[in-house]
Amino acid sequence: MEFVDLRSDTVTHPTPAMREAMARAEVGDDVYGEDPTVNRLQEMAAAMLGKEAALFVPSGTMGNLAAVLAHCGRGDEVILGNKAHTFLFEAGGISALGGVHSCQLPNQPDGSLALADIEAAIRPDDVHAPVSRLVCLENTHNRCGGVFQTVEYTRAVADLVHARGLAVHLDGARLFNAAAALGVAARDLAAPVDSVTFCLSKGLCAPVGSVLCGSADFIRKAHRIRKVLGGGMRQAGILAAAGIVALETMVERLAEDHVRARRLAEGLADIPGLNLPLGMPATNMVFVAVEDSVPLSTREVAERLRARGVLVGVTGARQFRLVTHYWVDDAGVARAVEAFKTVLKGADS
Ligand SMILES: *Cc1c(COP(=O)(O)O)cnc(C)c1O
Repeated sequence: MEFVDLRSDTVTHPTPAMREAMARAEVGDDVYGEDPTVNRLQEMAAAMLGKEAALFVPSGTMGNLAAVLAHCGRGDEVILGNKAHTFLFEAGGISALGGVHSCQLPNQPDGSLALADIEAAIRPDDVHAPVSRLVCLENTHNRCGGVFQTVEYTRAVADLVHARGLAVHLDGARLFNAAAALGVAARDLAAPVDSVTFCLSKGLCAPVGSVLCGSADFIRKAHRIRKVLGGGMRQAGILAAAGIVALETMVERLAEDHVRARRLAEGLADIPGLNLPLGMPATNMVFVAVEDSVPLSTREVAERLRARGVLVGVTGARQFRLVTHYWVDDAGVARAVEAFKTVLKGADS
């Protein structure tokens, strides 16, 4: 059976154009800085994000980790949201590998951190306190529903914390989705921050990799840390080639995924027994909850959807996340809505 795979946009396979570019890629030893394709991807990414330099890394997790380790020393504190990907889903790497302490602030429903909370969390210069070094933002915000943060908000945070001597790192795994939804350039969203990561391997469809961008000095530091973390790859141009195609051809089309997410959400909202706990999607993620009146467990719903060719992510008790991407077309959206309808109707009778 062919599946409509809505678990994540990470499930995207490389496009035929990417496979072609990968086969033809000119390569060298990237640990020596000699892979022309990696170098080209890094130059493109830095230009698109408006930063001096960039570093190709195997994953978004490594990009965020290298960034935090480049900004912070052991015992320093990073301020981040309690629903941040870096806090929840990166295996505690900043503390396990970096000895970096974290101060978690409540993420507001719109994915932001309240400015007053950030201000209050910055430590005084006191021997009892860890040194506040960094604030991490996330755009789009995954666990808050794929919501975007505006240029103005990002700038307000950066202005506040720069004045206190802290840096800002932006986990922009889906920054291009935020840019598409806002109708602004990614570089405008990244301009206020000191460093930013984005993923090539999500909605942009590349098979592997993320890019960390920042000042030339910062990237030099992060480069050494990438080596420490085992992320120095050799003929990585094979992978970077797909990333170049992603940046050249997959950025503009992300808005289509947002249109389909909205259509999917509208279809699901009409089905008795379902609701949208986070409202209509802002980008490519739909969070849908199964009401308590439905006599099926979360697992049963997911299994019955799978039997109808639809794969969804489970994000909580009675809650699913559905993510649209390049390999989900209009027919896929219709099939997903029909599958939910059938599964929930079957449960009633
Ligand atoms: C996917 C994701 C990452 C990085 O994930 P990898 O799977 O390590 O590439 C980081 N932040 C957010 C918000 C993400 O959604």
